[in-house]
Formats: sequence, structure tokens, C-alpha cells
Amino acid sequence: MAKMNASFLELKKSYLFIEIGKRIREYIASHPDNKIIRMGIGDVTQPLVPVVVEAMKKAADEMGVKETFHGYEDSGMGYDFLREAVSGYYKKNGVEISPDEILISDGAKSDCGNIGDIFDSSTVVLVTDPAYPVYVDSSVMGGKKVIYANSDESNGFAAMPDKNVHADMIWLCSPNNPTGSAYTKEQLKEWVDYAIENDAIIIYDSAYEAFISDPDIPRSIFAVPEARRCAVEICSLSKTAGFTGTRCGYTVIPKELMLKTPTGEDISFMQLWCRRQGSKFNGVSYPVQRAAEAVFSPEGQAQTKKVIESYMANAKVMAETFDSLGIKYTGGKNSPYIWFKCPFGMGSWEFFDKLLNEAEVVGTPGEGFGKNGDGWFRLTAFNTLENTKEAMERFKKLFK
Ligand code: PLP
Repeated sequence: MAKMNASFLELKKSYLFIEIGKRIREYIASHPDNKIIRMGIGDVTQPLVPVVVEAMKKAADEMGVKETFHGYEDSGMGYDFLREAVSGYYKKNGVEISPDEILISDGAKSDCGNIGDIFDSSTVVLVTDPAYPVYVDSSVMGGKKVIYANSDESNGFAAMPDKNVHADMIWLCSPNNPTGSAYTKEQLKEWVDYAIENDAIIIYDSAYEAFISDPDIPRSIFAVPEARRCAVEICSLSKTAGFTGTRCGYTVIPKELMLKTPTGEDISFMQLWCRRQGSKFNGVSYPVQRAAEAVFSPEGQAQTKKVIESYMANAKVMAETFDSLGIKYTGGKNSPYIWFKCPFGMGSWEFFDKLLNEAEVVGTPGEGFGKNGDGWFRLTAFNTLENTKEAMERFKKLFK
């Protein structure tokens, strides 16, 4: 009988969203007429903006005409028009990235989950705790050792490197899911210095960069120039432009980024990743890449900015509520997430039940994201202003 990959036995049971779903269903069954406000799952709620829909329709029409039909894309790494648009976006944010350092993906999750393939199984992977679960799960599936850097109350849920600990691969996410914290340029520089000192590579997840409004918070790790020697950046249009169901993202790999061969020579990171992708990935559909291109057009930028501003208006209502109640939190400023300490010293699940049963608001217990999430809770701003205001009124009643 064929044997399973035994590393899968090391995975933590992923019961979080299943358990949340079960508790909500039970509550609805006994209160069928009540209005539950969902602020748990990190999916967007607003539709694609008009300029994106138009671009996708036009591209779909092109696919139906012999002269403009597109089959496999030659490289599978993304059409030039989109790589150039992404490069232009970086330039506008003050960072020079050449189009041939940009690879188009079907979203950040795939590249986050797969990039570990090109690292040796002896790689020591550093993950900040709490974290988006893919970093740990994909490392464990690949048989790699995972160590943690604590994000907690003492550092504003923005873990910093410990010079006495060695890592080969480092996962950073800023603005962070779940904590909403965002690194300053100085903090990122510390991580870059640590990575260079350790001959390590940072995988930087910037899926929420579009929510940054503070000019002191970089939108890219490449705002630190030395990061070109030690970092890959994975980004997504999911939250930027409502592409969670459309699927498109991009990964930046600087030309000078290297890994080591078993005999100690340098080998291009880009070359290895393209080899991996060439075998296992056939690219993103033409209509979706045209839709993504439209996100970076002036109209696309204006239209998506409005949507993000509407989510951030919700975040502001939430932050003001927590301020007025004196509840400690991170996020809500450069992030659609608010991460807060459960009131009255409650545990995350205990608080989940209280919020569901007494305020009919659903959130996410922090312990689902790592041990430092114990006693903490995540709410998202992906909702309507009306629902957010109502949820916060219920919150106030519960905790005043
Ligand atoms: N990275 C982070 C931090 C996320 O929160 C998410 C989705 O919620 C992703 C990556 C995956 O995004 P995508 O939809 O592009 O796969």
C-alpha cells in the first residue's frame, strides 16, 4: 500500500472556521428570525468595480474571435501588459521593480503555499505568531522545522527579530492578518539586516498593502533597498480590488536574489521558481489578467480606492467604539482588521459565544492563528457601514 506524506500528521487540526460555522448554525436554528452580523471571515463584500468588469467582458469577447483568441500563455508567468502595469504601480509608490521581476499568479495563497518547494527540507522557517495559517501549514507539509517570533501586547503585535536565533526562511506579513499591525520602514530594515546576517530569505506577504494610508508605513519591503538581496514579495488583488472570486495576484523576485546549491554555489531564486512553476502552473486566464490590468489604470485606481475607503470608514467606526470602551486593540488604521483583547479576561472562544449569544455578532477567535492569539479576537471591516454601526451599537450595550 502506498504511504502518505507523514508530515501531514504534524499539521494542527484546522477546526477554526468549521467550529465557527457549527456554532452559528446552532444559534440560527434556535433563533431563526434574528439578524446576525458577520464580521468574522476575511472575504470582501463589495463587487468588482465597473472598469474591471468592462475589461473582463472585452477580453471575453476577444477570446471568442479567431484573431484575438488566446490559448496557453507562452511563459505562464503573466502577460507583459500586466507585468508592466504592476511595475508602474510600484514606481508610483517609489519602488523600482522591473516587469521581468514580476510573476503573475492566481492569488497570494498559491504562491505562499508553494514557494517553500524550492527550499531544502532542512530549512528552518521563522513565522510570527499569530499568523495567517498557510505559512506554518505549508512549511509543515514540506517537512520543515518551524520556529516562532512572538507578536504580542508587548510589541504591539509586530514581532521583531531575535539576533540569538537563526532562521533560513522568514515569513512576514504587513499589514498583518490577523493583528492589523503594520511595520514601519525602520522595523522592516531590522528584519532585512537580520535576514542578511543569517543568509536567510524573507517571504513578505503584502496582501493588504492597499489599505495603508499612513505615509510612514511602506507598501513594499523593497522600500528598504537592501531587501533586494534577501526578499520575495507576494501580493494579491483579492482585498485590493475584490478579486477573491476572480483570482489574481503577483510575486516579485529581484534578479539578484540567490539560494545556495548543495555544493555552496549561488543559484538564481527566479530560475528555480520558474522551473517549479513551469512544471506545475499554467498561468492565469487572459480575461482575468486584462481585468487585473484595469485595476492599475487611473480609473481602476480611483474606483478601487473608493471601495477601500468605504471599508476603512467601517474600520474607523470600530476603532472609535473600542477607544470609547477602553478596549485594547491593534489594526483598524492601515488594515481592515481590528485585533483586540477579549474584555473581562475572557478566552477567545468564551468571548465568541458571548458575542454571538448576547450581541448576535460573529468574529474570529484569535487562538485559531497561533498561541499568542489566546484571549484575543479579530473583527473585519468587510461589511456595510450600516451593519458595522449596528454591530458596534450592540457591542457598546454589551460592554458599557
Ligand atoms: N495572505 C494573507 C495575509 C491573507 O489574509 C490572504 C487571504 O485572506 C491571502 C494571503 C490569500 O489571498 P488570495 O485570495 O490572493 O489567495
